[in-house]
Amino acid sequence: MQFIDLNKQQARIERSLKDRINAVLSHGKYIMGPEVSELEEKLADFTKAKYCVSCSSGTDALLMSLMSLNIGPGDAVFTSPFTFIATAEVISLLGATPVFVDIDPDTYNIDPTKLNEAVENLNKGKKASPGTPDNLKVKGVIPVDLFGLPADYDAIDEICQRQGLVVIEDAAQSFGGTYKGKAVGNLGMVSATSFFPAKPLGCYGDGGALFTDDESIKQQLLSIRVHGKGSDKYDNIRIGLNARIDTLQAAILLAKLEIFPDEVQRRQEVAERYTQALKNKVKTPVIPKDSLSAWAQYSILSDDREGLMTSLKEAGIPSAVYYPKPLHLQQAFSYLQYPEGSCPVSESVSKQICSLPMHPYLEKEDQELIITAVNQS
Ligand SMILES: *Cc1c(COP(=O)(O)O)cnc(C)c1O
Repeated sequence: MQFIDLNKQQARIERSLKDRINAVLSHGKYIMGPEVSELEEKLADFTKAKYCVSCSSGTDALLMSLMSLNIGPGDAVFTSPFTFIATAEVISLLGATPVFVDIDPDTYNIDPTKLNEAVENLNKGKKASPGTPDNLKVKGVIPVDLFGLPADYDAIDEICQRQGLVVIEDAAQSFGGTYKGKAVGNLGMVSATSFFPAKPLGCYGDGGALFTDDESIKQQLLSIRVHGKGSDKYDNIRIGLNARIDTLQAAILLAKLEIFPDEVQRRQEVAERYTQALKNKVKTPVIPKDSLSAWAQYSILSDDREGLMTSLKEAGIPSAVYYPKPLHLQQAFSYLQYPEGSCPVSESVSKQICSLPMHPYLEKEDQELIITAVNQS
């Protein structure tokens, strides 16, 4: 059994994948070929965002979004400590300071009440941690849609409007999800997603995309993507990156996008079956009404995670821990000197969380095996 089975998907779309790839091989426009703009149009259409700018990875998408908002030294950007390193890494990379705000114990997404407190404390001159620099300017927040579930954007927006912060959605795991009728990609000033192979919509390498309704942000993103170009490639008006998606990856995504809505639906069914069968044994995911998760992961909490993972392993079932160590305790952020206990919910969840196999092609029989192994652990 596989944790994420990409082979069944490949078999399903083999013909269109090959046609798409062959088309690129014959036109030979490997960089910024026609598939790239076709993909951007289709993704914008899918999310109903005004603009989509594709790019080289989810990490670069986050980096570009911060660059387009001129975030840098002296700026504070709030985010969750219970996420993949990339979310906070890009903040530090630009010389800005990540301020970690603990998560909600049910959704594992940033807790809006604690976000408000953290912004107010910083505005009053109170440091977030001993190593946080003095006199930071509050600039933005990166809510992460963890495991595919959109963060609480209404509550976050209300705080950000009052406090003058921009919202950058880390939608790396949530493409395909919705929040109160709005598609992921449309929930922040800028939204960043990833097409890493294991994400809900994945390519066969690295890839990512940005979404915004703001024309001037879009223009900046286009420039940043190609070395800070101005009127052409050899007119450079800012420091930028080489952050384009490959044409081949765009072609692969176009083939996958055709079946993506059906796959999102299949993930809902898999998740529902898990929840019905496991809710009396472990803490199953809490999905607020009006939200739809893209189910990048199906994660449960168990106070005997060791025992649970051993039982699964003995039954030949793969499982994974996202994330074993919250970011505020990672060595990479030790310069900020967050003490243990400073984000207690993240710390406790990181000790109990475990993700089960989740993909659109998980057979009922395989799922029964997983359910039995969890219930008997
Ligand atoms: C995967 C992921 C990223 C980074 O995406 P890449 O395409 O791997 O660079 C960023 N944030 C979160 C929450 C992720 O899960």
